[in-house]
Amino acid sequence: MSSKVDYLTCDTCSKKFRPGEVELTCPDCGPDLGTLTVHYDYESVANVLTRDVLDSRQDQSHWRYLEILPVDSRPDALHPRVGWTPLYDLPKLASEVGVGRLWIKDDGLNPSASFKDRASSVGVAHAMEQGRKVITAASTGNAASSLSLFAACAGIRAVIFVPETAPEAKVAQLLMFGADVLAVRGTYDQAFDLCLDTALSQKWYCRNTAVNPYLGEGKKTAALEICEQLRWDVPEAVFVSVGDGCIIGGLWKGFCDAEKLGWIDRKPRIYGVQASGSAPLVHAFDRGDRTVTPEPAETVADSICVGKPRDHIKALRAVRESGGAMIAVDDEQILDAMRTLARKGGVFAEPAGATGFAGLVQAASASMLGKDERVVCLVTGNGLKDVATAISAVDTGPVGIGADLNSVDNWLREQGSKGA
Ligand SMILES: [Zn+2]
Repeated sequence: MSSKVDYLTCDTCSKKFRPGEVELTCPDCGPDLGTLTVHYDYESVANVLTRDVLDSRQDQSHWRYLEILPVDSRPDALHPRVGWTPLYDLPKLASEVGVGRLWIKDDGLNPSASFKDRASSVGVAHAMEQGRKVITAASTGNAASSLSLFAACAGIRAVIFVPETAPEAKVAQLLMFGADVLAVRGTYDQAFDLCLDTALSQKWYCRNTAVNPYLGEGKKTAALEICEQLRWDVPEAVFVSVGDGCIIGGLWKGFCDAEKLGWIDRKPRIYGVQASGSAPLVHAFDRGDRTVTPEPAETVADSICVGKPRDHIKALRAVRESGGAMIAVDDEQILDAMRTLARKGGVFAEPAGATGFAGLVQAASASMLGKDERVVCLVTGNGLKDVATAISAVDTGPVGIGADLNSVDNWLREQGSKGA
């Protein structure tokens, strides 16, 4: 167990645990309410990991924050580069959207093409330190692809539970990385419960979001990067899509950690965006509840098609403590956001990856943001993850023509264009 982790606290009853004292969640509150938050000896870390130290650090990956991660070292076997993803400054798109500045952070550029690599790499490193032989996860696709990649690097067996509706490209990744894939005849929520039960009965390392407190620690690195990439001048608002709530909870933890370490002196408002067909966290936020009531879920954005968000307490805490909000967008807005991000932002996002941007567009047009505010929008997954939806999102298909210049000329004439 990493010596850096000072203690963990239950998100519901605040009970303190020593590292390693409990496997996953608070025994009194259970897996739904008893998710844990990781705490470090911030004073000690602040002495060794300063802004100046980071400035001189060569490592262009999320391991540059090793001192504030729950593992002792970066295992050599985990060589794929995770994190330090680009933060694109897009002034034209900012003025179209109606905000002062807009940066898109493209986490689709991680090794398995999603944000989940931040959590999986830390989770697998943690499992390696514990000498675990089998690691398991339930996933709508991305977390599993990512886990399979890092488990393969580590030489650990990965057993993955996915809903049988998971997109083919994501399943292809799992199989290519050599995971055992169990396609559950049921929803993601059922796959999650089955996986958790199996992990507990088989004593496998569980990479499931929310119930494993160390995963959010990997996810928080995106927030640390945003701070550092903007030279510690944090934006006013951050937008991100929300399924289980682990990414948004992790982001908020990152900004809180950065403040505790003295790197930043204020934190952004965090906006969580759900698909309107899968919006239990939006409804809980609107009701003023601190926990969710499960609902049926249906949306084109498979990665956030979650009826029972597992990290609900941290997600709701993130938006409330930060002064942000949970908002819902419909599938048409998501498809529109995919087109805009691709055509005006140079970023090909999967539906869930574009959902944060769809929420930003809606929030800006509803005057939830100041016209001069600086905003970061996270893209959480690459568009090649779900080609079928990408095809359905574009308004035109390819035009079939003969393999000769006449055919091109004819097409140009039909376009009403004289060509070059
Ligand atoms: Zn508790």
